[in-house]
Amino acid sequence: MWYCEVPNGEPLIMEKGCLFCQISSGETDTEFLFDNDTLVVFKDINPAAPVHLLIVPRKHIRSINDLTEADQPILSEMIMVARDMAVQHGVDKSGYRLFINVERGGGQVIFHLHLHLIAGWK
Ligand code: 5GP
Ligand code: ZN
Repeated sequence: MWYCEVPNGEPLIMEKGCLFCQISSGETDTEFLFDNDTLVVFKDINPAAPVHLLIVPRKHIRSINDLTEADQPILSEMIMVARDMAVQHGVDKSGYRLFINVERGGGQVIFHLHLHLIAGWK
């Protein structure tokens, strides 16, 4: 673990070599559809449906198993932003799926917590 200094805020916990830490900190050219101090949203590189977004906290949390009480605001913000992204993509009324894969047996491949939003099937 290492700590990234942010102006006027809590130091951010990141992990060296973690792809989603690199993406969320702007080290790659991944385009953000939304970002704030807590999280970033970008398109999945290998979409499972016409709309496939990843909602990713900036803080490095390995998986749901590693959440602490203090992380509750992050989780609720992830869900609220997912709701807003569904509206923005015009899929709120037709419907969408939100899911989190947990550890290898749950299909998690990137070990930095993220919420999938998929939608847009005909
Ligand atoms: P998981 O299986 O860990 O829940 O989901 C990881 C997701 O990250 C996969 O759907 C995969 O397609 C996506 N992904 C992996 N590498 C990258 C990348 O470099 N950029 C983007 N935008 N998505 C990625
Ligand atoms: Zn990370």
